[in-house]
Amino acid sequence: FHMTMPPKAYRYAIPTKWYTEEHLRRYGFHGTSHRFGSKRCIELMGAEKASRVIVCHLGNGSSLSAVKDGKCQDTSMGLSPLAGVPMGTRAGDIDTCVAQYMMNHDNLTADECLNILNKKSGVLALSGVSSDFRDIETAANEGNEDCRLALDKFAYEVKKYIGSYTTVLGGLDCLVFTAGVGENSATTRASICEGLEYLGIKIDPEKNKIRGEEAIISTPDSKVTVWVIPTNEELMIAQDTAALCK
Ligand code: AMP
Repeated sequence: FHMTMPPKAYRYAIPTKWYTEEHLRRYGFHGTSHRFGSKRCIELMGAEKASRVIVCHLGNGSSLSAVKDGKCQDTSMGLSPLAGVPMGTRAGDIDTCVAQYMMNHDNLTADECLNILNKKSGVLALSGVSSDFRDIETAANEGNEDCRLALDKFAYEVKKYIGSYTTVLGGLDCLVFTAGVGENSATTRASICEGLEYLGIKIDPEKNKIRGEEAIISTPDSKVTVWVIPTNEELMIAQDTAALCK
C-alpha cells in the first residue's frame, strides 16, 4: 500500500548510495490496515467525499498515513517501525544525536541502544506505569502526572502529523481512527481532535463515546468527517489472496 508514495516522501536526505545500493528508504508499516481504513472510508463516503483521507492506526504500534484518491502519499513509519509518533514502547521520531549520546554515556552498542528505543521507550517510559493505554488512562485519571504527560505527548505528536498530512493532501475530507487505541479510547480521540477546529475537525462528544464500532464521530457541520473504522487486516489479506488465486 505504501509503495505509491512519491520519492520526495520515501527518500531520506542522506548520500544517494544508501538508496541506490542499499535500498534504505521509508517503507512504512501497517499497510494492510491503512489500506483497509482508507478503502472502507471511500466505500462509505464515495470517492469524491473521501478524496483526501488521513488514517490514524493507533494501537500498541502506531502510524499515520496520508491517502489521496485511495493511494498512499506519505506515512509516518520509515525503514523500521521505530519512526513516527511515540508508541507503547517505541520512542518514535527522535534526533539521532540522542542515540549517540546514550551510546557514549552508557557505553551501549548500537543494538543495545536501539533495543531501548524500541522496547523500553514510548508511553511506557514516559508514564513509568505501562505500555497499555488503559492502565495509563486509569492512572492519569487518579492524578498520576507522568501518565498525564505520556497521554499528552502521544496526542500532541499525532496532532502534529495530522497537521502535516493535511498540508501534504492540500486539505482534508476524512479522518479515520483505527486499531486498539483509535477504536476504543474516546479520551485519546478527543485530545487529538481538540484544537483542530481550524482545520474543519469538530467531533461530537456524545458520538465519540462509541467503542470498537464503525461510526461517524464528527458533528454534522464538521467540514472533515471523522470516522472510527475498526481495522480488518484479516479480511484484506483474505480478499488479496482470493484475487491472486483467480
Ligand atoms: P493494538 O496494537 O491495535 O492491538 O492495540 C493495543 C492497544 O490498544 C493497547 O495499548 C490497549 O491498551 C489499547 N486499548 C484497547 N482497548 C482500549 C480502551 N478501551 N481504552 C484505551 N486503550 C485501549
